[in-house]
Amino acid sequence: MIAGIHRPAVVRVNLGAIKANISNEKKHLLPGQKLFAVVKANAYGHGAVAVAKAAEEVGVDGFCVAILDEALELRQADVVKPILVLGVVSPEYAPLAAVNDISLTVPNLDWLKEAEKFLEKENLQLKIHLGIDSGMGRIGFNEDEEFIAANHFLENDSHFFVEGMFAHFASADSSDDTYFKHQVAKFKHMESLLTVKPKWIHVDNTAASIFNKDIHSDIVRFGIGIYGLNPSSNPNSPDLKSGILLKPALSFVSELTHVKTIHLGDGVGYGSTFVADEDTIIGTVPVGYADGWIRKFQGFKVKVGDEYCPIVGRVCMDQFMVKMPKKMPVGTKVVLISDDPVAPNNIKAAADYVDTIHYEVACLLSDRLPREYY
Ligand code: PLP
Repeated sequence: MIAGIHRPAVVRVNLGAIKANISNEKKHLLPGQKLFAVVKANAYGHGAVAVAKAAEEVGVDGFCVAILDEALELRQADVVKPILVLGVVSPEYAPLAAVNDISLTVPNLDWLKEAEKFLEKENLQLKIHLGIDSGMGRIGFNEDEEFIAANHFLENDSHFFVEGMFAHFASADSSDDTYFKHQVAKFKHMESLLTVKPKWIHVDNTAASIFNKDIHSDIVRFGIGIYGLNPSSNPNSPDLKSGILLKPALSFVSELTHVKTIHLGDGVGYGSTFVADEDTIIGTVPVGYADGWIRKFQGFKVKVGDEYCPIVGRVCMDQFMVKMPKKMPVGTKVVLISDDPVAPNNIKAAADYVDTIHYEVACLLSDRLPREYY
């Protein structure tokens, strides 16, 4: 998809905020603990290469991505720190990962056996992290027998270097610790079965780290915290560790491209879900669901000049309309998402409005929107 550089719609990313969030988190690490920046999904919509470069400047120890192509993108941009692919990569690409010094996740024994055949053919060694399903129900070993067999397999195989073992929490953002503790216990049990010795054993995501959950993790896989967002959308989330800084980095801005007055009975947008009951000033913004600004935003208030104005009518593919209290000129700034955490159009408020989480709102912002860094 082509980025629209000739239209006034841009995702602005404050790299200073990103660096400050990472530097602050580093101050809270335990002695020896590493910080890996999670930059999957184009750094949660913020731009993977720019975020990775900023993260390198403040001394992160490595990166996590979801798919092999995201890891290759970083290597092509001369990122040299360790990179772990968290998702399952088809075993046939194990050699490609190995030659690019990219670490892969092992989801099960069959994967290991398959990947070994491809590595053997090219006489390569791959760095791996053993994935453990401690209760996320997604990928990784969850049965003792298979995990023990995988360990035996690895003891006798020179094509793998066991760099890590990890699991992912399903509810580290909740003040109810019951399931979290169940996951920790399951992980500890699987750890007790190890006969190979991984360099790093890790479980922490942002929530486990900043909500002070008391577990040892050699690496903190710091994702949403980098972007200055609180991982919890839970009203009874646990308290943040004291001194944690979360400075939102992303804002989404555009401009009015058209302004007019409509009259009694005139409709706005597909299906005319808004019909004027009096003379009404309507502004048009050149952003739509093709940019990730979904139809559910109908009714949400964006900031036009100094006024918060509701979106009226259905959001179109490339444009939406707002009802304005006064005439404002074409070119007036429109803030769809503010980086001010207390603004009514901050990303959490936007996510709440469309009944989702801010992770999703940020990730949906499409490649048609240029990212502007400052
Ligand atoms: N680790 C794994 C395996 C993940 O899938 C994710 C994100 O989904 C993270 C770490 C980072 O999580 P967060 O963004 O909540 O810090």
